[in-house]
Amino acid sequence: MKTRFLVLLLAGLVAVSAQAAEKKVAGPNGGRVLAGVEPRAEFFVTRDRKVQITFLGPDGEAIAPAAQSVTVTAGDRAAPTILTFAKAGNTLLSNAPLPAGDGVPAVVQIKATPDGKTVTEKFNVELSTCGECKLAEYACICGH
Ligand SMILES: [Zn+2]
Repeated sequence: MKTRFLVLLLAGLVAVSAQAAEKKVAGPNGGRVLAGVEPRAEFFVTRDRKVQITFLGPDGEAIAPAAQSVTVTAGDRAAPTILTFAKAGNTLLSNAPLPAGDGVPAVVQIKATPDGKTVTEKFNVELSTCGECKLAEYACICGH
């Protein structure tokens, strides 16, 4: 009885710590991990303001894109910039840069397969650096 309880307790602790670790992990390039997509994907803004999407394996390492399609709608809702993506090595890279400015609102839509369900994530692309975790604010893992 006692052993069984301990095993359950340990299993519970492992599950809790795994969950906590998952929440605080940055992508391999220091980008934002989109955890609602399967496999998970990293949203990263390159030096020339293009969006790079990298799909992640179970250990958080980069894996090659499969049949996913990605669209990012960014900027002013009245005149949004719609980014489409093409394969670039092991990642998907946007055809154009994000619109100018900091804190650009972005709607990321990812489809795992052509017939799959679209997963949507919305956030502001804050490019300033977080003072605590030193990542860009859009990818901040401090939870503020
Ligand atoms: Zn931070």
